Amino acid sequence: MTAPVAIVTGGSAGIGWEIGRRLSVDGYLVVAADRVPGLTAAENPHGILWRELDVTDHDDVDRVFGEIEAELGPIEVLVNNAGIQRHRGIEDLSWKEWSAVVDVNLHGVFSALQAAGKRMLERGGGRIVNISSISSRGSAGRAPYATTKAAVIGLTSTAGAEWAARGVRVNAVAPGYVDTGVFRQGVEAGTLDLDTILSRIPAKRLAEASEIAAAVSFLVSDQSRYMNGQTLYVDGGFMVDY
Ligand code: NDP
Repeated sequence: MTAPVAIVTGGSAGIGWEIGRRLSVDGYLVVAADRVPGLTAAENPHGILWRELDVTDHDDVDRVFGEIEAELGPIEVLVNNAGIQRHRGIEDLSWKEWSAVVDVNLHGVFSALQAAGKRMLERGGGRIVNISSISSRGSAGRAPYATTKAAVIGLTSTAGAEWAARGVRVNAVAPGYVDTGVFRQGVEAGTLDLDTILSRIPAKRLAEASEIAAAVSFLVSDQSRYMNGQTLYVDGGFMVDY
Protein backbone atom coordinates (compact mmCIF):
# COMPACT_ATOMS: atom_id res chain seq x y z
CA MET A 1 0.00 0.00 0.00
CA THR A 2 1.35 3.46 -0.87
CA ALA A 3 1.75 6.05 1.88
CA PRO A 4 -0.88 8.80 2.15
CA VAL A 5 0.30 12.11 0.71
CA ALA A 6 0.82 15.18 2.92
CA ILE A 7 1.79 18.57 1.49
CA VAL A 8 3.56 21.11 3.71
CA THR A 9 3.84 24.57 2.15
CA GLY A 10 7.07 26.34 3.05
CA GLY A 11 8.25 22.89 4.11
CA SER A 12 11.91 23.34 3.19
CA ALA A 13 12.91 25.21 6.35
CA GLY A 14 12.13 26.00 9.96
CA ILE A 15 8.88 24.83 11.48
CA GLY A 16 7.64 23.49 8.12
CA TRP A 17 10.64 21.20 7.83
CA GLU A 18 10.01 19.85 11.32
CA ILE A 19 6.32 19.30 10.54
CA GLY A 20 7.30 17.37 7.41
CA ARG A 21 9.79 15.28 9.39
CA ARG A 22 7.12 14.42 11.98
CA LEU A 23 4.51 13.53 9.36
CA SER A 24 7.08 11.27 7.65
CA VAL A 25 7.58 9.45 10.95
CA ASP A 26 3.79 9.19 11.19
CA GLY A 27 3.79 7.33 7.86
CA TYR A 28 2.99 10.03 5.33
CA LEU A 29 4.69 10.61 2.00
CA VAL A 30 5.56 14.26 2.57
CA VAL A 31 5.93 16.88 -0.14
CA ALA A 32 7.58 20.15 0.88
CA ALA A 33 6.05 22.72 -1.49
CA ASP A 34 8.34 25.73 -1.31
CA ARG A 35 10.02 28.45 -3.34
CA VAL A 36 13.47 27.07 -2.62
CA PRO A 37 14.78 23.52 -2.21
CA GLY A 38 15.48 22.55 1.37
CA LEU A 39 18.15 20.45 3.00
CA THR A 40 20.52 18.19 1.12
CA ALA A 41 19.77 14.50 0.70
CA ALA A 42 22.17 13.67 3.56
CA GLU A 43 20.17 15.95 5.85
CA ASN A 44 16.89 14.45 4.66
CA PRO A 45 16.85 10.82 5.78
CA HIS A 46 13.05 10.80 5.83
CA GLY A 47 12.87 11.16 2.05
CA ILE A 48 10.77 14.30 2.07
CA LEU A 49 10.04 15.23 -1.54
CA TRP A 50 10.25 18.79 -2.83
CA ARG A 51 8.09 20.58 -5.36
CA GLU A 52 8.70 24.15 -6.44
CA LEU A 53 5.75 26.32 -5.49
CA ASP A 54 5.07 29.97 -4.83
CA VAL A 55 1.80 30.02 -2.90
CA THR A 56 1.05 33.55 -4.12
CA ASP A 57 0.43 32.21 -7.65
CA HIS A 58 -3.20 31.10 -7.31
CA ASP A 59 -3.41 29.15 -10.57
CA ASP A 60 -0.04 27.53 -10.08
CA VAL A 61 -1.03 26.20 -6.66
CA ASP A 62 -3.95 24.37 -8.27
CA ARG A 63 -1.75 23.10 -11.11
CA VAL A 64 1.02 21.82 -8.79
CA PHE A 65 -1.47 20.13 -6.44
CA GLY A 66 -3.04 18.42 -9.49
CA GLU A 67 0.39 17.21 -10.61
CA ILE A 68 1.21 15.91 -7.12
CA GLU A 69 -2.05 13.91 -7.07
CA ALA A 70 -1.44 12.51 -10.55
CA GLU A 71 2.07 11.44 -9.62
CA LEU A 72 1.82 10.40 -5.97
CA GLY A 73 -1.87 9.87 -5.15
CA PRO A 74 -4.64 11.74 -3.33
CA ILE A 75 -3.66 14.60 -1.04
CA GLU A 76 -4.86 13.47 2.38
CA VAL A 77 -3.22 16.23 4.41
CA LEU A 78 -2.33 19.86 3.71
CA VAL A 79 -0.36 21.97 6.16
CA ASN A 80 -0.51 25.65 5.26
CA ASN A 81 2.78 26.69 6.83
CA ALA A 82 4.44 29.15 4.40
CA GLY A 83 4.61 32.58 5.99
CA ILE A 84 6.59 35.81 5.88
CA GLN A 85 6.60 39.09 7.74
CA ARG A 86 7.75 42.68 7.39
CA HIS A 87 8.83 44.77 10.36
CA ARG A 88 7.73 48.38 10.32
CA GLY A 89 5.30 50.64 12.11
CA ILE A 90 1.96 51.15 10.38
CA GLU A 91 2.68 54.78 9.52
CA ASP A 92 5.84 53.84 7.61
CA LEU A 93 4.69 50.58 6.06
CA SER A 94 4.68 50.67 2.24
CA TRP A 95 1.79 49.22 0.27
CA LYS A 96 4.28 46.81 -1.28
CA GLU A 97 5.34 45.50 2.16
CA TRP A 98 1.73 45.17 3.32
CA SER A 99 0.70 43.38 0.11
CA ALA A 100 3.66 40.99 0.14
CA VAL A 101 2.65 39.65 3.56
CA VAL A 102 -1.05 39.47 2.71
CA ASP A 103 -0.22 37.65 -0.54
CA VAL A 104 1.68 34.86 1.21
CA ASN A 105 0.03 34.61 4.63
CA LEU A 106 -3.60 35.03 3.59
CA HIS A 107 -4.07 34.71 -0.19
CA GLY A 108 -1.55 31.86 -0.27
CA VAL A 109 -3.32 30.05 2.54
CA PHE A 110 -6.67 30.48 0.77
CA SER A 111 -5.30 29.25 -2.58
CA ALA A 112 -3.80 26.10 -1.07
CA LEU A 113 -6.82 25.46 1.16
CA GLN A 114 -9.15 25.72 -1.84
CA ALA A 115 -6.96 23.64 -4.17
CA ALA A 116 -6.55 20.83 -1.64
CA GLY A 117 -10.02 21.19 -0.11
CA LYS A 118 -11.95 20.78 -3.35
CA ARG A 119 -10.05 17.58 -4.13
CA MET A 120 -10.66 16.27 -0.60
CA LEU A 121 -14.37 17.09 -0.88
CA GLU A 122 -14.65 15.09 -4.11
CA ARG A 123 -13.35 12.06 -2.22
CA GLY A 124 -15.19 12.85 1.02
CA GLY A 125 -12.15 13.10 3.28
CA GLY A 126 -9.02 15.02 4.22
CA ARG A 127 -7.38 17.12 6.89
CA ILE A 128 -6.01 20.65 6.65
CA VAL A 129 -4.00 22.48 9.30
CA ASN A 130 -3.30 26.20 8.91
CA ILE A 131 -0.42 27.75 10.84
CA SER A 132 -1.53 30.94 12.59
CA SER A 133 0.39 32.61 15.44
CA ILE A 134 0.03 34.11 18.90
CA SER A 135 0.61 37.38 17.01
CA SER A 136 -2.98 37.03 15.75
CA ARG A 137 -3.88 38.99 18.92
CA GLY A 138 -1.85 41.96 17.68
CA SER A 139 1.88 42.59 17.52
CA ALA A 140 3.38 46.11 17.45
CA GLY A 141 5.61 46.66 14.44
CA ARG A 142 4.14 43.69 12.56
CA ALA A 143 0.72 44.85 11.41
CA PRO A 144 0.31 42.77 8.22
CA TYR A 145 1.63 39.69 9.99
CA ALA A 146 -0.73 40.01 12.95
CA THR A 147 -3.67 40.85 10.68
CA THR A 148 -3.15 37.91 8.35
CA LYS A 149 -2.59 35.47 11.21
CA ALA A 150 -5.92 36.58 12.72
CA ALA A 151 -7.61 36.20 9.33
CA VAL A 152 -6.30 32.65 9.08
CA ILE A 153 -8.20 31.79 12.25
CA GLY A 154 -11.41 33.13 10.68
CA LEU A 155 -10.80 31.21 7.48
CA THR A 156 -10.09 28.04 9.46
CA SER A 157 -13.31 28.14 11.45
CA THR A 158 -15.32 29.01 8.33
CA ALA A 159 -13.85 26.21 6.21
CA GLY A 160 -14.26 23.82 9.13
CA ALA A 161 -17.95 24.70 9.40
CA GLU A 162 -18.53 24.51 5.62
CA TRP A 163 -16.82 21.16 5.14
CA ALA A 164 -17.42 19.27 8.42
CA ALA A 165 -20.39 17.31 7.11
CA ARG A 166 -18.43 16.31 4.01
CA GLY A 167 -15.53 14.64 5.77
CA VAL A 168 -12.94 17.40 5.57
CA ARG A 169 -11.49 18.77 8.81
CA VAL A 170 -9.80 22.17 8.94
CA ASN A 171 -8.02 23.27 12.11
CA ALA A 172 -5.23 25.69 12.97
CA VAL A 173 -2.17 25.71 15.20
CA ALA A 174 -1.08 29.02 16.70
CA PRO A 175 2.54 28.61 17.75
CA GLY A 176 4.33 30.67 20.34
CA TYR A 177 7.82 31.89 19.52
CA VAL A 178 10.12 29.35 17.86
CA ASP A 179 13.79 30.01 17.07
CA THR A 180 13.32 29.72 13.30
CA GLY A 181 13.17 32.12 10.35
CA VAL A 182 10.24 34.37 11.18
CA PHE A 183 11.32 34.80 14.81
CA ARG A 184 15.00 35.40 13.97
CA GLN A 185 14.06 38.09 11.45
CA GLY A 186 12.04 39.83 14.16
CA VAL A 187 14.95 39.75 16.61
CA GLU A 188 17.34 41.04 13.93
CA ALA A 189 14.90 43.81 12.95
CA GLY A 190 14.58 44.84 16.60
CA THR A 191 10.79 44.36 16.80
CA LEU A 192 11.21 41.25 18.96
CA ASP A 193 13.40 41.38 22.07
CA LEU A 194 14.39 37.96 23.36
CA ASP A 195 14.65 38.89 27.04
CA THR A 196 11.29 40.68 27.03
CA ILE A 197 9.68 37.77 25.26
CA LEU A 198 11.10 35.18 27.64
CA SER A 199 9.92 37.19 30.63
CA ARG A 200 6.36 37.14 29.20
CA ILE A 201 6.20 33.42 28.47
CA PRO A 202 4.92 31.53 31.54
CA ALA A 203 7.01 28.47 30.51
CA LYS A 204 10.11 30.76 30.41
CA ARG A 205 11.42 29.32 27.17
CA LEU A 206 10.79 29.39 23.44
CA ALA A 207 8.87 26.56 21.77
CA GLU A 208 10.68 23.75 19.99
CA ALA A 209 9.65 23.30 16.37
CA SER A 210 9.01 19.65 17.22
CA GLU A 211 6.36 20.77 19.75
CA ILE A 212 4.50 22.60 16.98
CA ALA A 213 4.85 19.56 14.73
CA ALA A 214 3.40 17.34 17.47
CA ALA A 215 0.24 19.47 17.54
CA VAL A 216 -0.07 19.23 13.75
CA SER A 217 0.42 15.48 13.98
CA PHE A 218 -2.46 15.27 16.48
CA LEU A 219 -4.76 17.46 14.37
CA VAL A 220 -4.30 15.34 11.24
CA SER A 221 -4.69 12.09 13.18
CA ASP A 222 -7.87 10.19 13.91
CA GLN A 223 -7.49 11.07 17.60
CA SER A 224 -8.77 14.57 16.79
CA ARG A 225 -11.58 13.31 14.54
CA TYR A 226 -14.26 15.34 16.37
CA MET A 227 -12.28 18.59 16.12
CA ASN A 228 -13.07 20.99 13.31
CA GLY A 229 -12.61 24.72 12.84
CA GLN A 230 -10.49 25.02 16.01
CA THR A 231 -7.26 26.83 16.76
CA LEU A 232 -4.83 25.09 19.08
CA TYR A 233 -2.40 27.41 20.89
CA VAL A 234 1.02 25.86 21.49
CA ASP A 235 2.62 28.73 23.36
CA GLY A 236 3.89 27.77 26.83
CA GLY A 237 0.93 29.62 28.36
CA PHE A 238 1.65 32.95 26.60
CA MET A 239 -1.97 33.70 25.65
CA VAL A 240 -3.19 33.09 29.21
CA ASP A 241 -1.24 36.10 30.40
CA TYR A 242 -1.63 38.22 27.27
P1 NDP B 1 10.88 30.22 7.97
O1 NDP B 1 11.16 31.53 7.31
O2 NDP B 1 11.99 29.50 8.63
O3 NDP B 1 10.20 29.24 6.93
C1 NDP B 1 9.15 29.65 6.10
C2 NDP B 1 9.23 28.91 4.79
O4 NDP B 1 8.14 29.37 3.96
C3 NDP B 1 10.53 29.22 4.04
O5 NDP B 1 11.06 28.04 3.47
C4 NDP B 1 10.06 30.20 2.98
O6 NDP B 1 10.84 30.21 1.80
C5 NDP B 1 8.67 29.65 2.67
N1 NDP B 1 7.89 30.62 1.91
C6 NDP B 1 7.84 31.95 2.06
N2 NDP B 1 7.08 32.51 1.11
C7 NDP B 1 6.64 31.49 0.32
C8 NDP B 1 5.84 31.42 -0.82
N3 NDP B 1 5.34 32.52 -1.41
N4 NDP B 1 5.57 30.22 -1.36
C9 NDP B 1 6.09 29.09 -0.82
N5 NDP B 1 6.87 29.09 0.26
C10 NDP B 1 7.15 30.28 0.83
O7 NDP B 1 9.68 30.52 8.99
P2 NDP B 1 9.22 29.77 10.32
O8 NDP B 1 9.56 28.34 10.23
O9 NDP B 1 9.69 30.56 11.48
O10 NDP B 1 7.63 29.98 10.23
C11 NDP B 1 6.79 28.99 9.64
C12 NDP B 1 5.35 29.36 9.90
O11 NDP B 1 5.12 29.42 11.31
C13 NDP B 1 4.97 30.73 9.33
O12 NDP B 1 3.64 30.69 8.86
C14 NDP B 1 5.07 31.62 10.55
O13 NDP B 1 4.27 32.75 10.44
C15 NDP B 1 4.56 30.69 11.64
N6 NDP B 1 4.96 31.06 12.98
C16 NDP B 1 6.28 31.16 13.31
C17 NDP B 1 6.65 31.52 14.59
C18 NDP B 1 8.08 31.64 15.01
O14 NDP B 1 8.33 32.10 16.14
N7 NDP B 1 9.05 31.23 14.19
C19 NDP B 1 5.63 31.79 15.63
C20 NDP B 1 4.27 31.66 15.16
C21 NDP B 1 3.97 31.30 13.88
P3 NDP B 1 11.81 31.49 1.50
O15 NDP B 1 13.07 31.17 2.23
O16 NDP B 1 11.93 31.50 0.02
O17 NDP B 1 11.12 32.72 2.03
